[in-house]
Amino acid sequence: MNINIETIIVDPHPLLRVKSVDVPLPLSSEDHELAMSLITYVRDSRDPIKVEAQKLKPAVGIAAPQIGINKKIFAVSIDILDENDEIETIEYLLVNPKLIAHSKRECALKSGEGCLSIEEPYDGFVYRYERVTFKAFDVLRNQEIIIKESDYVGIVLQHEYDHLLGVLFYDRINKNDPWSEKVNATIID
Ligand SMILES: [Zn+2]
Repeated sequence: MNINIETIIVDPHPLLRVKSVDVPLPLSSEDHELAMSLITYVRDSRDPIKVEAQKLKPAVGIAAPQIGINKKIFAVSIDILDENDEIETIEYLLVNPKLIAHSKRECALKSGEGCLSIEEPYDGFVYRYERVTFKAFDVLRNQEIIIKESDYVGIVLQHEYDHLLGVLFYDRINKNDPWSEKVNATIID
């Protein structure tokens, strides 16, 4: 399955608002192929040559509903700087993820969020939990895992998880005061 800007559906497509269904495990070959095409998209979307040649839009994550398939699968691939200032790539390819714990404290990205499926800009803080724990089957590791992430990686995981619930990031922006700062929240650069 080839994913590009022509196969990614955009808001207000109704399938972006549907709650996704659980995926049977072990994965069928069809679902495995779907999962792999999601992680392939995210990896390739950060390669400028492939972006040009294959009509991709850069991303750090994509969820199956974004290609019109309402199944609980999403992929993330995020480059972060580790303690030694070296690039580390954090990747998950999750099936049937569940948010099982989270901090009370929240965080938000300083410049707000974007989404492959949303063409119009929606400005404002998107508050999310600062620390999250997910349980899921990870296709890359071929096992069920418990994931503890925070800050930026945690935000990306929550953004993709929202897609499985039919929620889009702008739903979480305060309409009356988009850039209002919360007391118990960290704003991340
Ligand atoms: Zn999105």
